[in-house]
Amino acid sequence: MEKGNYRVLLFYKYVEIEDPETFTAEHLAFCKELGLKGRILIGSEGINGTCSGTIEQTDAYMKKMHEDERFKDLWFKIDEADGHAFKKMHVRHRKEIVNLSLDEDINPLELTGEYLEPAEFLEQMQDENTIVLDARNDYEYDLGHFRGAVRPDIETFRELPQWIEENREMFEGKKILAYCTGGIRCEKFTGWLKREGFEDVAHLHGGIVTYGKDPVAKGQLWDGKCYVFDERIAVPINQVEHVVVGRDHFDGTPCERYVNCANPECNAKILCSEENEHFYMRSCSDACRTHPRNRYFIENNMTVEEFNERLEAIEKAKQKELV
Ligand SMILES: [Zn+2]
Repeated sequence: MEKGNYRVLLFYKYVEIEDPETFTAEHLAFCKELGLKGRILIGSEGINGTCSGTIEQTDAYMKKMHEDERFKDLWFKIDEADGHAFKKMHVRHRKEIVNLSLDEDINPLELTGEYLEPAEFLEQMQDENTIVLDARNDYEYDLGHFRGAVRPDIETFRELPQWIEENREMFEGKKILAYCTGGIRCEKFTGWLKREGFEDVAHLHGGIVTYGKDPVAKGQLWDGKCYVFDERIAVPINQVEHVVVGRDHFDGTPCERYVNCANPECNAKILCSEENEHFYMRSCSDACRTHPRNRYFIENNMTVEEFNERLEAIEKAKQKELV
């Protein structure tokens, strides 16, 4: 497989879709026929998707979408890739194309923050009266973020409004610059901020992935990598310098490698080296390590004896660290 023969497309549009259930079924058939793989959500409020395919497949998809009056201006963010970034093709109907679950929903076509192009964002980010707010989840922030950005302590997007309410004073009197991966989360979120009474609210148009490709911004002041929801997991953004901000969960050394905790009930994303993944049995805590359904234990056909020896070794390593 030659590099660059494939592409990953990232796209969304808030636009009214009538009978989204029927459109979802038709769209799944269409994507499968093309041979695309990925995840697309469709609701009456619009479309949100990411998918991978060959240059020919993705060209055909974009052409067909642009022929549809509703999606004639659909903005595709395109990454070159070595192969598919997904295993299957899913197209699903959802009430919301990004789950924010507000009691009273926001229509970003009616209310949203000011759009900032990458170069404007770069400039305003450095203004002392602005506060840069990461509108993503904690594990996304931990892999990479804008230098000095606020890190909301949340695991899912729908927790963000409450987190803001609890930390309101941090943002009072400041211009808020919000950002997310491709821009879709900020569409509703900045609308919500305005409805909450924050007056000066802006968001990065096209998100981090656009910022990283912009010829003026060149991804500057971005540290680490950008978390993406496909098999690539992490993509580079800053074209000028690369500062690693991720830290190994077990030993605190610089790290940009995510694995999922082997406890199926936890499944937390853990930054760790390959070495530590194996030594700590890919488990984020003692409780996860000794969980009866621990996947690492099962996958590696460990005997109880081996397992107990490892637990002892981990205990010793921890004691050593404390000294
Ligand atoms: Zn865990």
